[in-house]
Amino acid sequence: MSGQDVVSEASDGFAARYGHPADGVWSAPGRVNLIGEHTDYNDGFVFPFAIDRRTAVALGARGDSVLRVASTFSDESIEIAIDALAPDAVSGWSAYPLGVAWALGEFGADLSGVTGVDLFVASDVPIGAGLSSSAAIESAVALALDEHWGLGLDRPTLAKVGQLAENRAVGAPTGIMDQSASLLGRQDAGVFLDCRSLDAEVIPLGFDADGLALMVIDTKVEHSHATGGYAARRASCEAGAAAMGVGSLRDLGVDDLERAASVLDDETFRRVRHVVTENARVLDTVRTLREVGPTGIGPLLDASHVSMRDDFEISVPELDLAVETAQAHGAIGARMTGGGFGGAAIALVTDALVPVIERVVRTAFDERGYGEPVIFTVRASQGATRER
Ligand code: ADP
Ligand code: MG
Repeated sequence: MSGQDVVSEASDGFAARYGHPADGVWSAPGRVNLIGEHTDYNDGFVFPFAIDRRTAVALGARGDSVLRVASTFSDESIEIAIDALAPDAVSGWSAYPLGVAWALGEFGADLSGVTGVDLFVASDVPIGAGLSSSAAIESAVALALDEHWGLGLDRPTLAKVGQLAENRAVGAPTGIMDQSASLLGRQDAGVFLDCRSLDAEVIPLGFDADGLALMVIDTKVEHSHATGGYAARRASCEAGAAAMGVGSLRDLGVDDLERAASVLDDETFRRVRHVVTENARVLDTVRTLREVGPTGIGPLLDASHVSMRDDFEISVPELDLAVETAQAHGAIGARMTGGGFGGAAIALVTDALVPVIERVVRTAFDERGYGEPVIFTVRASQGATRER
């Protein structure tokens, strides 16, 4: 489905559900993280981009002060009075859109005078595939409500609104990367984000101009250890920072690794080395894009994968196979992306190689007896926007 299809689906779905046309439609994309993994909660650098898979939300004004949400995702419509909004008052999938409405108030928006709205959501961002359908719905709803209610919050603030909704209303301890990519992304550009200062810079990727495609190879391996593994990695990073006498691993550079090797136990050292070198790789990626162009970033993507596999130990055999097969058949670079323990790998390839790599990866998975991967390409796309 293309972006325009989900806009029509939201608009048509709104009319069918509520019996009158919507007043406007907004949309926001999912994201892929090009490089910078497990650096966000260490105050470090990430470099995601917004993709050409979007969530659209159609909005219609109401005369009262009720919010009502519905989605193609579910048959139910959920309602709440605006003055009853609270993190504990919303649940299920509606915690995302209604949590955003609550969180707008936490960032200074005055919700006492606004009137209610009906929302209808449609999306072609795959859910739970690591492309952040959660940030897409949060960002689409945040922009829609901000513009409809005339709240005047800027996009970096709307990203914080989405994060707060996810942290408090949904209860997922996630960083701000996904919402920043979804709100700040641009066509054929990435969002270089400093997770300490929250400064964000849009950096041209030049993939389109150079005839490059970014393939996503979703292994469909479930993140069975994901929650526990994620918590354990965070704890190792905190322990490493404390033992090194710094507030966060962001404060360490590659020059500090020799001392880290003598201070830390082997496992903690390797966790720390991943984060420190990954931060350096993000900075190198941005520099290389500016000075050389996208064909120069391959070794950085490859090194990021090795670091996640060997030092951070969050890869799985399916991800390694996807990465190695893509690399062996001419990918410019490849790495696992996302939190790890399953999920997807990405490969930067020339457009002509896409079908070749798709075929060899499928064959390799089949030969090993792994489940069928889902393989598609993404293009770096415009962030959240009003569509109609
Ligand atoms: P992802 O990796 O896709 O972000 P999450 O578990 O973080 O996975 O978020 C997925 C959840 O977000 C869904 O289970 C649902 O509750 C909510 N969600 C995402 N997209 C939609 C949608 N189009 N309509 C309703 N809920 C959605
Ligand atoms: Mg998510």
